[in-house]
Amino acid sequence: MTFPIAIIGTGIAGLSAAGALHAAGLGVQLFDKGRGSGGRMASKRTEVGTLDLGAQYFTCRDRRFAEAVQQWRGHGWVAEWQPSLYDSANGMLRPSQDEQIRWIGTPRMSALTRGLLGDMPARFSCRITEVFHGQQHWMLQDADGKAYGPFSQVVVATPSPQAAQLLAAAPKLASSVASVAMEPNWAVALSFEQTLDTPVDGCFIQDSPLEWVSRNRGKPGRASQPDTWVLQASSRWTRQHLDLPREQVIEQLYGAFAEMIGCTVPEPVFSLAHRWLYGRPVGNHGWGALADSSLGLYACGDWCLSGRVEGAWLSGQEAARKLLQHRAN
Ligand code: FAD
Repeated sequence: MTFPIAIIGTGIAGLSAAGALHAAGLGVQLFDKGRGSGGRMASKRTEVGTLDLGAQYFTCRDRRFAEAVQQWRGHGWVAEWQPSLYDSANGMLRPSQDEQIRWIGTPRMSALTRGLLGDMPARFSCRITEVFHGQQHWMLQDADGKAYGPFSQVVVATPSPQAAQLLAAAPKLASSVASVAMEPNWAVALSFEQTLDTPVDGCFIQDSPLEWVSRNRGKPGRASQPDTWVLQASSRWTRQHLDLPREQVIEQLYGAFAEMIGCTVPEPVFSLAHRWLYGRPVGNHGWGALADSSLGLYACGDWCLSGRVEGAWLSGQEAARKLLQHRAN
């Protein structure tokens, strides 16, 4: 009798691994503590439309990823984003020279992960707290004490601090995973009744609490009214203001935005703040994916490679490749 493979995490890394295993004819069962798929590519429904508070866009360097993106474009899950891009440094706003091709999910970032999930079985609002070995196979337990299994193998596709806890049954693997720290990021959305008088669709920022701002309506498929912006604080500023109440985070980042954007900024008619505790991995690693194949435990995520959407997807592919290779031997 063959048992399915458990995949913890339905961000792009978990979905990438699941898709590859599913395509190879293996049974998969996905779990996520969130209400839907996407992780840091999730989109939040609000009264001013659906907003991308995590990944803003993604770029392609790897050939395999570029081929996948073309397929996703064919399905209508992603589109090229051609923003009017600026850089802000020392209080000066300048058009950016950066000509990379940028992709986004349409009509929201999470459209991509919804598409990748397809009809694979997934259990949401289910926080896995333990991965343990049953008589012969792997079992999972959630925060309510409910057990799931048996599974032949387990792929952990969560940020590294969460993965290290789940991989306690493989201490060496868990210790490699735990060596990757992750930085937090505050993200704030602000909506203005009147359209701001600026050509900026997206801006990289230095010397400010902010590192990036983007205009929602500048992205394909997004609501055009009201004029809504997503502001991302730098990891440094976020670390220093990790426990600041949300209203104060909004107030301070609104102030930084009004200072850098170079036009009159009225009071917002809508605002929200979201804290990503595990926003970005510290440093790049060339691991692809980590595994204890003899035990049947695998770990993947952006923290194994580049800390970007592309790195996360490639890491999921690598976890699946390692798992399939081990099964073939
Ligand atoms: P995640 O997306 O974090 O997925 C992990 C999943 O695991 C989550 O859904 C989580 O709910 C689930 N999970 C965690 N613990 C458990 C548990 N115990 N039980 C069950 N489920 C669990 N990248 C770019 O390429 N371009 C950008 O512009 C960009 N901007 C960014 C902006 C911000 C603010 C942030 C935070 C990130 C940004 N990134 C960007 C990075 C990009 O979002 C990530 O690299 C990528 O989405 C990571 O995917 P992942 O699958 O590895 O992890």
